Amino acid sequence: FLKGKTAIVTGSTSGIGLAYARAFAAEGANVMINGFGDAAAIEDARAALEHASGAMALYDPADMTRPDQIAAMVDRAARELGGADIVVNNAGIQHVSPIEDFPDDRFEAIVQIVLTSAWYMMKAAVPHMKRAGWGRIISTGSAHSLVASPNKSAYVMAKHGIAGLTKTIALETATHGITVNCISPGYVWTQLVENQIPDTMASRGMTREQVMNDVLLAAQPTKEFVTPEQVAALAVFLCRDEAKSITGANLSVDGGWTAA
Ligand code: NAD
Repeated sequence: FLKGKTAIVTGSTSGIGLAYARAFAAEGANVMINGFGDAAAIEDARAALEHASGAMALYDPADMTRPDQIAAMVDRAARELGGADIVVNNAGIQHVSPIEDFPDDRFEAIVQIVLTSAWYMMKAAVPHMKRAGWGRIISTGSAHSLVASPNKSAYVMAKHGIAGLTKTIALETATHGITVNCISPGYVWTQLVENQIPDTMASRGMTREQVMNDVLLAAQPTKEFVTPEQVAALAVFLCRDEAKSITGANLSVDGGWTAA
């Protein structure tokens, strides 16, 4: 049902972002993927998307810390893929440390990649969406857009910011056929989660198994990791006509985490 539409997904070379790109491609959308990684693996992913959609798929290496590159990527999607109808702000990094030891450059990078880039993406995409009279802006929030955990000050701050930005731009675009929402997963089994296990082991003096069961899944009442595909399925639903009244929402997909 997304034939003729173009989706741009930031941070889609792996994890949840790649799952969004696959889900949009499966519905026939043109897709622009973005993020870092091995060039051959990225090209394989791009080609597979094109094969799945029967439409176009492009890769753009825009760095989410660079507003000029963000604007250029959105313009390129409009020029080469015919629009910027669906924008997904998903790129993210994490750093786990008490505030007094938190490196300033890690703090700045998290805020830029998770939060500031979403503002620039929206600024660049909204004019295209207004012209088309239709648009879907979806950001990957997090349970950490609603509640906090110790030692994740930059991430929790940036994700709470995503929830506020979502509400504001939803209000600004409400009469233009544009919806703006965030999807807030609990722990999803991806590289980002895998990568923070060593730091959490060090900062809490725990084994790998203890971090998995007593820290990560401790907060998730279902005792199961969320899957990237479950998150992507909700994003696809948000693109349907049936979802046109859902705007400004922060939708939890967290196994009950934030209910507790
Ligand atoms: P991931 O590490 O697999 O994916 C992150 C993506 O962001 C990658 O494609 C990476 O290349 C890209 N990226 C990093 N820095 C970038 C930059 N400067 N410019 C452009 N791209 C950049 O992790 P993931 O778990 O799939 O995370 C995706 C999103 O989901 C993030 O916003 C994360 O905060 C959020 N999230 C993840 C979980 C989880 O448990 N995995 C839970 C809640 C929210």
